[in-house]
Amino acid sequence: MILVVIEHEGGALDRLSSEALTLGRSLAAAPGERLQAVVWGPGSAATAGPLVASGVAVVHEIADPRLTEFAPEALGKGLAQLIEREGPVAVIGTGSERGAEILAHAAARLGLPLAANVTEVRPGQPWQVTRQRWGGSLLEEARLDGPIRLLTVAPHAFEPAVAVAGSAAAVQAFAPDLTDGDFRVRITSLVPAEEGAISLADARVVVGGGRGVGSAEGFAQLDELATLLGGTVGVSRVVTSAGWRPHAQQVGQTGTRIAPDLYIACGISGAIQHMVGARSAKAILAINTDRDAPMVTHATYAVIGDLHTVLPAIIAAVRAAR
Ligand code: FAD
Repeated sequence: MILVVIEHEGGALDRLSSEALTLGRSLAAAPGERLQAVVWGPGSAATAGPLVASGVAVVHEIADPRLTEFAPEALGKGLAQLIEREGPVAVIGTGSERGAEILAHAAARLGLPLAANVTEVRPGQPWQVTRQRWGGSLLEEARLDGPIRLLTVAPHAFEPAVAVAGSAAAVQAFAPDLTDGDFRVRITSLVPAEEGAISLADARVVVGGGRGVGSAEGFAQLDELATLLGGTVGVSRVVTSAGWRPHAQQVGQTGTRIAPDLYIACGISGAIQHMVGARSAKAILAINTDRDAPMVTHATYAVIGDLHTVLPAIIAAVRAAR
């Protein structure tokens, strides 16, 4: 049995979990294998529909009334207990910070190896995996030994699972043996995102800004273009270090990994630490004064010029086309 650890928001699966399901489904296609999933928290029951439609045979819920918010130690312990009871061949988590944290706790409790940020899995004796290291700038070939293989999936290494026909199954509650001490690390409050804001990780269009934007005020044009295109703004680390934009908008190794259909990179040089966060963009339009900037060489399209001239022209053209 292949067990996939699913993150969801009130029952709606997140994109990275759908990507983990894709890998789970391909591994569960082996003769005699079954795909199962594990969820927790409010809205768990609502995950059954989309999970079953994605080929999941059984959905387990780590059920504890204290699990209303993320609590990594408690979840890692609960997951370890479920793994001991069910004995899966492999457990697949997402490459999100939360997914990695839960799997790491479970692995430590079970004394099992964990391969993080996997991009390819070749089952055999032992399993062979390709995994990202150093924020994705290095690919490592590794062997994954052990009676139960634990791994997390590198963000955007797989397409999200496409739903197939299926009927909703009941979520099976699993009551873990947890103490109050297991909840010493937990989320105690959340700051809601701006009303209607599009998450950087999920945006189909990202308008990126770097040092070339020149100032916090310079971002007005990027905001305008992002709104026009139904996207959001992402930035380089120089921009967050300068305090022009919050860290939540940073793209890259120490920021968010994005996978938009279009990344419009304005005044961003394309340093390796930035590109590891942007490499899953389907198309890149670079706007840069330097035709030799790495971003330009990575780009699908490039406009060589001052972004303060180019952006108003693009905005005017988009408005005219509407
Ligand atoms: P610059 O490299 O200074 O590039 C500015 C670009 O703007 C240049 O290409 C220039 O030609 C162009 N330009 C200037 N003026 C204009 C104009 N008027 N019109 C058009 N183009 C113009 N960086 C990240 O982004 N994300 C990360 O997560 C990240 N993590 C890091 C982690 C570590 C451990 C380290 C060491 C570094 C990390 N960095 C990260 C920093 C990274 O190495 C670069 O320093 C940073 O990405 C550069 O930002 P930039 O492209 O905005 O600035």
